[in-house]
Amino acid sequence: MSFFKGKTFITMPKGSSEERPLKEFLNPKTVAIPLRAKNVDYEGCVSVGDLVKIGTKIGEKAADSISSSISGKVIAIEKRDHTSLKKIDHVVIENDFKEEREPCEYVDTKAITISGGGVKEPSKIKVKLGTQLSDIIEFIGGYTDEVIKNPKDSKLVAGAALTGKPLVTDEIAIESTSSAFLIIPPSNYREMSCMRCSACVIHCPKGLQPVQIAKAHKTKNNALLQKLGAQSCISCGMCSFVCPSFIELTDQTTKAKQLVLKDKGGK
Ligand code: SF4
Ligand code: SF4
Repeated sequence: MSFFKGKTFITMPKGSSEERPLKEFLNPKTVAIPLRAKNVDYEGCVSVGDLVKIGTKIGEKAADSISSSISGKVIAIEKRDHTSLKKIDHVVIENDFKEEREPCEYVDTKAITISGGGVKEPSKIKVKLGTQLSDIIEFIGGYTDEVIKNPKDSKLVAGAALTGKPLVTDEIAIESTSSAFLIIPPSNYREMSCMRCSACVIHCPKGLQPVQIAKAHKTKNNALLQKLGAQSCISCGMCSFVCPSFIELTDQTTKAKQLVLKDKGGK
């Protein structure tokens, strides 16, 4: 399912999963494991047709490696959407349900929370790494009718409401860094012009000028971004949260920071 990319203006309270027992979804038909971890791309070290076990190395970078979370057959190595918002190579493995495991202590599962008012059953659930979010949502009962009717006006956020990352698709893999996903149904809020109220400036904990940073980012004016201190943004989400015009400032300030750091040789 494809979603509108945005995140901050939540009209329904986060669906509570606090009192719910931990569910398990440990037998996906396939997993798609990204060849990327800690912001670094890995070299694949399996081929289509190879048989793997839980813990078999499928990607490597120097002394580090990425392993399979299920036993089965590699059926594809292809670029797919990723939570980094880039297309990343994934190793797609078809489950043989034998649960064969290499003699190593590889952790192949992750517990995540899915909530936000856009799913029928907000849940805490333990899944295999590489399981597709869309499969998990189907397993827990699916989206609410209003999200199904209007996904483009709904929002999918990886992480917390203010600081999470807005995604455009639920065809993404669960990774060891995944923790929570919010699905936010359509709202009547629409972005308007800046009314120059200064709320974003007043509330920025780093004393930044989010609107000026967003403008400088649009023109990729790196020198001005540095002068404005974009590199100090902590992506706290406060500027977007307080904006009465519903402007998604944090997306822009976060990208501006990344641009400055990239220019300085960072990641
Ligand atoms: S996201 Fe960045 S610019 Fe916005 S309030 Fe937080 S620190 Fe300031
Ligand atoms: S809070 Fe929103 S409306 Fe107010 S100055 Fe900042 S961007 Fe403009």
